[in-house]
Amino acid sequence: MPQHLVWFRSDLRTLDNPALFAASQQGQVTGLFLLTPEQWRVHGISDYKIAFMLRSIDVASQHLAKLGIETQIVLGSDFGDAPSQVLEAAKSINATKVFWNDEVAIDEQRRDTRVTSALADAGIAVERHQGFTSLPPGSVRKPDGSPYSVFTPFKKRWFAHCIDRGVHCLPRPEPQGSPVAGAATPAVVDGVSKSFGEDRWPSGEANALTTLQEFAAEKIRDYESERDLPNLQGTSQLSPHLAAGTISANQCLEAAYQHNDHRLFGGNPGADTWISELVWREFYNHILAEHPRLATGHAFKKETDALPWNLSKEQLQRWQQGETGFPFVDAGMRQLNSTGWMHNRLRMVTAQFLAKHLFLDWRLGESYFMARLVDGDFAANNGGWQWSASTGTDAVPYFRIFNPIRQAERFDPNGDFVRRMIPELAGADKKQVLEPWKYGGVDGYPAPMIDLSTARDQTLAVWKLARS
Ligand SMILES: Cc1cc2nc3c(=O)[nH]c(=O)nc-3n(C[C@H](O)[C@H](O)[C@H](O)COP(=O)(O)OP(=O)(O)OC[C@H]3O[C@@H](n4cnc5c(N)ncnc54)[C@H](O)[C@@H]3O)c2cc1C
Repeated sequence: MPQHLVWFRSDLRTLDNPALFAASQQGQVTGLFLLTPEQWRVHGISDYKIAFMLRSIDVASQHLAKLGIETQIVLGSDFGDAPSQVLEAAKSINATKVFWNDEVAIDEQRRDTRVTSALADAGIAVERHQGFTSLPPGSVRKPDGSPYSVFTPFKKRWFAHCIDRGVHCLPRPEPQGSPVAGAATPAVVDGVSKSFGEDRWPSGEANALTTLQEFAAEKIRDYESERDLPNLQGTSQLSPHLAAGTISANQCLEAAYQHNDHRLFGGNPGADTWISELVWREFYNHILAEHPRLATGHAFKKETDALPWNLSKEQLQRWQQGETGFPFVDAGMRQLNSTGWMHNRLRMVTAQFLAKHLFLDWRLGESYFMARLVDGDFAANNGGWQWSASTGTDAVPYFRIFNPIRQAERFDPNGDFVRRMIPELAGADKKQVLEPWKYGGVDGYPAPMIDLSTARDQTLAVWKLARS
């Protein structure tokens, strides 16, 4: 029977894993995981995410071991090592083919090209699959073959393709023999302990499935009304799993579809809206695949690269530390700093505050998020930042600037979330928690770092000048 190597990357699961499934249909499988801590640092990946991935690799290795699939976990440094390490692993089992699921970002694509050629030189074939998004990047295009850059028509076409294809997931491969011993990642990699964040972020495929099933059964119906209220747990918190691939976009879609009377849209408003959010994830991944320059620090709207962005370190630091003096913004930043995750509403509010009110270069915020988020995902993070900064595809117009006080009034009307995140404001009443400076201030909590309306006017003036 032919021997095949499956190289796992951002697909740390055994269910609905196209590369693993295809390999298991064609021969005897061995799994490979490469740890590339130097590359993770170059990509600015957070300790939360690194630890989450390490734990998830351990779980995946255990699941594979139960199926009789041996795994190799290889500690390298950066993507430069990948060609020799994958080749060595393939040779060690006399593999005829190496299978993997593609990743869209530019460094990953370049790595894969080099690995493919190293394997080809040794007479070993590569079989590539797609498993990070529901529909492969490049498959959802306008009738004239050009890529979409606006979300709503993309979504319509995405639905049409999805209906044609159907909503279904691949099963776990059949066991290929008796259980074997699973491999494990080192306890510490590049100074990051794999237990970091373990209590807050249970990792691995089984936890991802439980989270999805509970969300679909109990919360998806209320998603539309609760998803914007950060003090409730109204969203799925599946983002770390989707980013590491411990669950697939298809599995999420299938669960939502089943709880939506087998509809992709036009069913329950909560499930409809959740599916639409999954399509935003697809959209940003497809955009990144169509425009690789986005991974090189460039704005989607090229002309906005010339805007005279503010680079003040002092202002950036106050924003990072949640010390801006605007409670809703600070609550979001403190949630990020203390948990590795931030509610979507707050991501938009804090990002707009940075890019609009402070007019700081959005790339500074983008990299800070990446360095803290457990769910850091280049396409979604870059897309979210460029949307907020009005530099991106289908972005919020430059003149639309969220007012953090009005946002707090709408989405945290009693100030409960702010009080939970900012201990200095725990005793503030409903009015004071919104605008502490208007009610004598609060000991230990800073005064606002800017005047909102002056900052807004200045930003609009710069944008207008640049556009003229
Ligand atoms: C400035 C900014 C930065 C962001 N950075 C990231 C990031 O690094 N990683 C990331 O996964 N998401 C990012 N998002 C999108 C979104 O905030 C998170 O996906 C969401 O908060 C995760 O929580 P959840 O799993 O409970 O989401 P749910 O509301 O339950 O949504 C389900 C899934 O849909 C996807 N999704 C939801 N909203 C979006 C969106 N707007 N764009 C793309 N995908 C979405 C996510 O995979 C999410 O897990 C960012 C948004 C903004 C505005």
